Amino acid sequence: MTIDKNAQLFERARQVIPGGVNSPVRAFNAVGGTPAFIARAQGAHLFDANDKQYVDYIGSWGPMILGHGHPQVLSAVQAALLEGFSFGAPTEREIALSEAILKLMPSMDMVRLVSSGTEAGMSAIRLARGYTGRNKIIKFNGCYHGHADALLVKAGSGLATFGASSSAGVPDHVVQDTIVLEYNDIGQLEEAFAKYDGQIACVIMEPIAGNMNFVRASTAFTRRISELTQEHGALLIYDEVMTGFRVALGSAQSLYAQQIPGFKPDITVLGKVIGGGMPMAAFGARREIMEKLSPLGPVYQAGTLSGNPIATACGLQTLALISQPGFHEALHAKTGQLMAGLKAEADAAGVPFSVDHQGGLFGFFLLPELPSHYEAVMKSDKPLFNKFFHGMLARGHYFAPALYEAGFVSSAHTDADIQATIEAAREVFKTL
Ligand code: PLP
Repeated sequence: MTIDKNAQLFERARQVIPGGVNSPVRAFNAVGGTPAFIARAQGAHLFDANDKQYVDYIGSWGPMILGHGHPQVLSAVQAALLEGFSFGAPTEREIALSEAILKLMPSMDMVRLVSSGTEAGMSAIRLARGYTGRNKIIKFNGCYHGHADALLVKAGSGLATFGASSSAGVPDHVVQDTIVLEYNDIGQLEEAFAKYDGQIACVIMEPIAGNMNFVRASTAFTRRISELTQEHGALLIYDEVMTGFRVALGSAQSLYAQQIPGFKPDITVLGKVIGGGMPMAAFGARREIMEKLSPLGPVYQAGTLSGNPIATACGLQTLALISQPGFHEALHAKTGQLMAGLKAEADAAGVPFSVDHQGGLFGFFLLPELPSHYEAVMKSDKPLFNKFFHGMLARGHYFAPALYEAGFVSSAHTDADIQATIEAAREVFKTL
């Protein structure tokens, strides 16, 4: 009998780590079964504790846009390691990474580096409140911005009313200024701005929501958010932690600016790709907003490991490589090849299926048409998705273990990887 080392490790992990994992989605609660414990990775492939190989469509939930162990990224990190791990004092590489980010995103004049997307989103909200002197914030159902207390909110019962905390341990008064609206619903947005005129500090959104699988904000919705925030003196916070430098070199905001002349978010939140797999995130805005931050201004924000020298080295090299001409066009085409292949196989098997993708980010739904908001996403057939997920995993193709998560393709995925995934899907669709 072969020993399942994943099962052994999971059992051991559960004794000392709640649920056996350090971030809930890794536990496979949504799909059932035992999570694979990853021992190593190379290029587009993961290897688990049993040495089983998988084509990786999670990419650490976004950062690994170049795949695993890219030789130039490895060299940059190795060189940085020898110079020291952390100094708690400014370094030149922090300037270089900030300059590299700002060069690619003209909506920002200044940026502050932090260590996680949660920290960046939380700090961006504080900055928006400090800048506007207002308390209320608008977020959208199904968008995730990290696990800061004020953002762990689910939709309330009425339109444009305050939500309820979605986690124990978050007191009601902490979320009483968070208004939760339906994504892509212009009517609710107008209603909220009319009702809370002069009180709204900011609207925070994912421009392409990757936390309810893959749902694009419509151009009309984005234009109206931009108009309303400007008319009412509120700030638009674009959470590009997932989309940043992944959907396009200029991130999602560059795509919306092509459709809405002059479009710019007021504050941008970044993470994932800018650290290339190391703990690194950032938030930035135009100068007058960023100058409200400590030590210049009254909005406090700090971090022992912020701008860490190893993480900045990894992020800088990653940004340099993805800035090569044609990188995102090639990634978009590759991801499109995967989506078209899966769709064709689903159609052939008579399985309802819809797909969308941008750059190296994709979504597929076991639904006949693409959904435009959270409630519609959740109409997906969960048992059917779980069967698809496990069928693919067993054949060595690792998709996100929940139907409300997006997928990720890297530049390391080869045509052979994509083709093998499509062929495996052909078999799995027949079993659904
Ligand atoms: N914002 C978005 C859009 C995210 O997808 C995530 C994480 O997946 C976060 C914020 C939180 O980032 P982190 O997990 O680094 O705290």
